[in-house]
Amino acid sequence: MKPLLLNSFAEGQWVTPQTGLVDIRSAVSGNVLAQSSSAGLNFKAMLDFARNTGGPNLRRLTFHERATILKQLALALTEKKKELYDLNYETGATKGDGWIDIDGGIGTLFVYASKGKRELPVATHYLDGDLEALSRHGTFQGRHILTSLQGAALHINAFNFPVWGMLEKLAPTLLAGVPAIVKPATATSYLTEAAFKVMVDSGVLPEGSVQLITGGVGDMFDHLGCQDVVSFTGSAQTAMKLQSHPVFAHESTRFIAERDSLNGTILGPDAQPGTPEFDLFIAEVVKEMTVKAGQKCTAIRRIFAPKTHEQAVIEALQDALGRIRIGDPRSKETQMGALASFAQREDVQAKVAELAKTSEIVFSGGDMPEEGAFIAPTLLHARNPWGECAAHDVEAFGPVATVMGYDDVDDAVALANRGQGSLVISAFTHDPKVARDLVMGAGAYHGRMVFIDRDSAKESTGHGSPLPHMTHGGPGRAGGGEEMGGIRGVMHYMQRTALQGSPRMLSAIGEEWVKGAPELIDDVHPFRLHFEELELGKTFYSKEREVTLEDIEHFAHFTGDTFYAHMDEDAAAANPFFPGRVAHGYLLISFAAGLFVDPDEGPVLANYGLDNLRFMQPVPAGDKIKVRLTAKSKKSRNEDYGEVRWDVELTNQDGEICATYDLLTMNAKKA
Ligand code: NAP
Repeated sequence: MKPLLLNSFAEGQWVTPQTGLVDIRSAVSGNVLAQSSSAGLNFKAMLDFARNTGGPNLRRLTFHERATILKQLALALTEKKKELYDLNYETGATKGDGWIDIDGGIGTLFVYASKGKRELPVATHYLDGDLEALSRHGTFQGRHILTSLQGAALHINAFNFPVWGMLEKLAPTLLAGVPAIVKPATATSYLTEAAFKVMVDSGVLPEGSVQLITGGVGDMFDHLGCQDVVSFTGSAQTAMKLQSHPVFAHESTRFIAERDSLNGTILGPDAQPGTPEFDLFIAEVVKEMTVKAGQKCTAIRRIFAPKTHEQAVIEALQDALGRIRIGDPRSKETQMGALASFAQREDVQAKVAELAKTSEIVFSGGDMPEEGAFIAPTLLHARNPWGECAAHDVEAFGPVATVMGYDDVDDAVALANRGQGSLVISAFTHDPKVARDLVMGAGAYHGRMVFIDRDSAKESTGHGSPLPHMTHGGPGRAGGGEEMGGIRGVMHYMQRTALQGSPRMLSAIGEEWVKGAPELIDDVHPFRLHFEELELGKTFYSKEREVTLEDIEHFAHFTGDTFYAHMDEDAAAANPFFPGRVAHGYLLISFAAGLFVDPDEGPVLANYGLDNLRFMQPVPAGDKIKVRLTAKSKKSRNEDYGEVRWDVELTNQDGEICATYDLLTMNAKKA
């Protein structure tokens, strides 16, 4: 069969390479499957196209519109999944492995689509944190805002997850309004190209928002600037080489690195053989060693067991690994496929030889086909993990892990931290004290910590799965980067700017009314206005209402809340917070609603909740309260209605603030 000629997608066009073709071989048959080259691409023009066309096209859209695009991409990819799975097998991956890569990538898009709609505003900016009071009278205040970077994101991906690797970076980048240039690892770029094509063909991506380089990145680094981001996943060696480019010192171009990692797993001191945790531990180690043939950045490389159970762990792993079926990834029987390339197999073999200098190989074997980049799972045992021990330094990116014994939890922590920073560490323990000690001792060295026991095992996503909701990355050797983590990942592609100015300025900039900014007061009650008619700053002041002792007693008996602060004058007065009997906070909130509500049927459809409720000043019987209600911000939900956030302030006869909160309502749109 003629090899596939892989295209790049540059400046809005598919570009077929003519020269400098590199052969890419199937990991299973060894045949040349595809050829790629980026010779002839104008890398500077690609960056300019992203910055000048893609960026403005994306920044025009709100977070919600960008989230809709992510969902459409996920749906388009779902429809073409079969084609992607066919290519997946050529990378040596089984169906299960492909599920992590293909369905996992699509799932990541779905999660970002949904989080973008639920957690980001219908806007192009993001307000970060609360207002900061910077002046005595409140005429000068501060707050932080994030806006989209105006450059391009260059995504350089590793070979092991050709689809997920692309999508987990693309989702937060596009949501942030930043165009991306994707450069997949050559070895599996045929699968990335296929998935990329599906996305382009879907027609939902704004022009310039994505480009693809199959092959090298040429002189692109020379043209990076201060608004660009390089997000790299791969080996520490390549990361160091790339990061030493002068552009990072000159331009402060952002560099996010996800590098190799000597992840560990700890069998808790309580988890002796026969406990559910022991069995879960053995099963997880075997899974982590063999899924994707161990080619997962998060895979377990170091196995820590209490010295008393070290031998039992080795024997259980020897037994379980001996039963793994290695072979054609297309076969349903197969549990472990091949490595992604022959170069990768050579690399793993060389790394095992290095590891074996300081550890003993206690398992290596299994029947496997002769063609293809297959390799035997290999278990090593480090007798002296505190001495010279390559397992703390050498990453064999395949089905390879080393068992080490520890004395106590402190020893386990110290050994785990000898990996110089990792993406993930898991612990199999049913003892919460062990879990807490591990986090306090090892948290600073590891990007993610997973605790698995009999309570969580059934629903656990396991040691090795980075989830879009949670941060992925780790300190030190793991690259010091952070990706995903829900909306946190979006912020890596935005600039945080500290804003200082008057409430009027801050209201206009942030599209959120700030106390102290002008209030719009007229004869029309704000509850009579439809969503689109309601201007931010629209304010209603209620009349006064006196709170009486009868009110307090009635409320107490009606609700059953006869707490002494409302019922017993002496006991209440002895309390440091109250002058004597006071009104219930919830009574005040209820009176407030009675004071500001406009009762007739109208555009306000529902009370949706309260945020940030604070009771600031007690209200004894005889006090007179009144309410200010101001439209603070609006968020369209759908064609029929939107959410309105109201700033509510309850004051007493002396103008003292008794309570503040945000009230949320759903307001109908006009037509
Ligand atoms: P790699 O050899 O470092 O390559 C990573 C990427 O860098 C590939 O796209 C590669 O492209 C590109 N690259 C290499 N030299 C380059 C250069 N001079 N300029 C620009 N790009 C260059 O790593 P890999 O072998 O693909 O991946 C395996 C490693 O990645 C393992 O160490 C693993 O731990 C790590 N990894 C980490 C994570 C994580 O999230 N932390 C995830 C997956 C993998 P070519 O293929 O075209 O050379």
